[in-house]
Amino acid sequence: VLEIRNLHKAYGALEVIKGVSIAAHKGDVVSLIGSSGSGKSTILRCANLLEDSQQGDILFQGEPVKWRGHGHNRRPADGSQVLRIRTNLSMVFQQFNLWSHLTILQNVMEAPVTVLGRDKHEVEASARRYLDKVGIGDKCDAWPAQLSGGQQQRAAIARALAMEPQALLFDEPTSALDPELEQEVVKVIKDLAAEGRTMMIVTHDMKMAHDVSDHVIFLHEGLIEEEGAPEVLFGQPKSERLRGFLSSTV
Ligand code: ATP
Ligand code: MG
Repeated sequence: VLEIRNLHKAYGALEVIKGVSIAAHKGDVVSLIGSSGSGKSTILRCANLLEDSQQGDILFQGEPVKWRGHGHNRRPADGSQVLRIRTNLSMVFQQFNLWSHLTILQNVMEAPVTVLGRDKHEVEASARRYLDKVGIGDKCDAWPAQLSGGQQQRAAIARALAMEPQALLFDEPTSALDPELEQEVVKVIKDLAAEGRTMMIVTHDMKMAHDVSDHVIFLHEGLIEEEGAPEVLFGQPKSERLRGFLSSTV
């Protein structure tokens, strides 16, 4: 579904991604772990074209992003391709980013209606189903501020699902939550993994990464230091840096 090949990204002179390749095939859950500043969020933002990158390819369903210009002037060339990729890679952020002036139901309905131009009644019915699925079907008419953090994040996941995307990108979906609320969100992510959803997940939660992933990538300073199946990566880490990182996170 989503492939990144030899990605390079710099902010001015600061090189933050130095040649990273990642593939998420249909049904794969790929987790990105690594210390703060290693480039995890940047990779997700480059993947759905929220950020420019200077070198490397991004392929969505086998179709490479078309670029114009080079290096710091490189930009996506085809606006309709950008829109297609963005709407098919729904992102869930650490800080939920719900619209405070819309009810929970309206939050979930907004993009399918305005971006995809879908029928309001159909969208409402499916929005209610997605809210039920994440366990907050009774909160349709509530305002975001009336929900707990875990409920808000589940609403944000329902909103991402309502776009019926080909893949979901999560950037630290549980790190803003208290431990007991975190588990509600982990459960939803586990259900999505079990359904065979394609997902890329940036997380500090090693237990979740271990439990849901098909493939785990450990980043260090903009490069992949080690990667593999979760049992191997967590069970028999090879690199000294990964061992250090894992012992610092338990
Ligand atoms: P964290 O675990 O703290 O979220 P991360 O692995 O997601 O970290 P990134 O946010 O991808 O890290 O940042 C990678 C590097 O890029 C860091 O050195 C950061 O300071 C730098 N960086 C990120 N965004 C910008 C920006 N808009 N301008 C300049 N530098 C940036
Ligand atoms: Mg980050």
